[in-house]
Amino acid sequence: MRIAMISEHASPLAVLGGEDAGGQNTHVAELSAALAAAGHDVRVYTRLDAVDLPVTVHTADGYQVVHVPAGPAEPVAKDDLLPYMPAFSDWLADRWRAGDWQPEVVHAHFWMSGLAGLAAARRSGVPVVQTYHALGTVKRRHQGAQDTSPPGRIDHERELGRSVDRVVAQCQDEVAELVRLGVPRSRMTVVPSGVNLSTFGPLGPAADSDGGRARILTVGRLVERKGFQDVIRAVAAVPDAECVVVGGPPAGLLETDPYALRLRALARSLGIADRVRLVGAVPREEMARWYRSADVLVAAPWYEPFGLTPLEAMACGVPVVATAVGGLTDTVVHGRTGDLVPAREPAALGAAIRGLLGDRIRRFAYATAALERARTHYSWATAAERLGELYGEVATVGRPTRVVA
Ligand code: UDP
Repeated sequence: MRIAMISEHASPLAVLGGEDAGGQNTHVAELSAALAAAGHDVRVYTRLDAVDLPVTVHTADGYQVVHVPAGPAEPVAKDDLLPYMPAFSDWLADRWRAGDWQPEVVHAHFWMSGLAGLAAARRSGVPVVQTYHALGTVKRRHQGAQDTSPPGRIDHERELGRSVDRVVAQCQDEVAELVRLGVPRSRMTVVPSGVNLSTFGPLGPAADSDGGRARILTVGRLVERKGFQDVIRAVAAVPDAECVVVGGPPAGLLETDPYALRLRALARSLGIADRVRLVGAVPREEMARWYRSADVLVAAPWYEPFGLTPLEAMACGVPVVATAVGGLTDTVVHGRTGDLVPAREPAALGAAIRGLLGDRIRRFAYATAALERARTHYSWATAAERLGELYGEVATVGRPTRVVA
């Protein structure tokens, strides 16, 4: 099928680890590659955010990335992009109307892509599938006044869910959140994200470890809700272990990153500065080396729509200690592939890490079960197959999409 992926802020070509570049970029890149490998014709539309980018890039993974001129050709924070969505959808509609390539299905990622994709697709009667990746209601609940989402996000998300042809939720927690938002259950299909099992596996080189200390690895964009401060507090209660934090700006810019400075100050105040190491952004192709070097992967977000990093660690045969939030309650099976603890409770997190690092046999059992679970439940080939079927269904039904104001 001809599939148009819309990912307005998250380019599959972006360098990951920065504030607005993480899971969605990986998801769109891997899903597009898996769909292309299955024989589909995939184009990813993302915003042009640098003057020197070509309109179209043919990737080595068999799909194209098309840079859409909408707003300034420079980086713009995700939460400031809404005013440019009409230009984004006009450009898509013109391009598809011009006729050289028209999609049979549009799959939008994130709510603003949904607005742009739906507005363009409804002009040509193409069905739309929506994946939210994150929900405004959840963000508002956790971040309160610090939530910088544009006003109206929640209403747009509700209306989108009622207007598109199908909503793809990534985990059971997201289904519950969407139902609470007012999106009918009957419109949803659950297809979890996958993990690249060629890139992430137990065999291969590992990053150097530090003089025999157990390694606690934690990975993600350096934003508060990822709970790195809770991990560092927990590490203070785990003697003789080092904590490696991967993510954030490139290593050279960590010295000026306010959140990185706060994490370092916290480690100093706890007397564990020598056991906490921030390495900054790591290129995607080097991530497996870091996972393989870890004795345990800790993911301690306050909330998490899906959470790829525990899954990547599991595929490398690494046990996980995670907070029991969002998608992590689906991927991590408590007591079998890892341990789940309440969010924002560093003492409980520290106790779980200490217990696991002190129990070699349980760690080995978790690692084996984690690897098995990643391989059997979360391959991208499986996700692409299920989504390919879903695209076929919505395209066959051919139900006209409703207009979003
Ligand atoms: N990642 C990376 N380099 C880094 C930090 C993160 O390649 O320095 C990748 C990581 O491997 C994962 C993604 O970014 O694929 C983060 O996804 P996750 O779902 O954990 O978090 P999100 O960014 O969606 O909040």
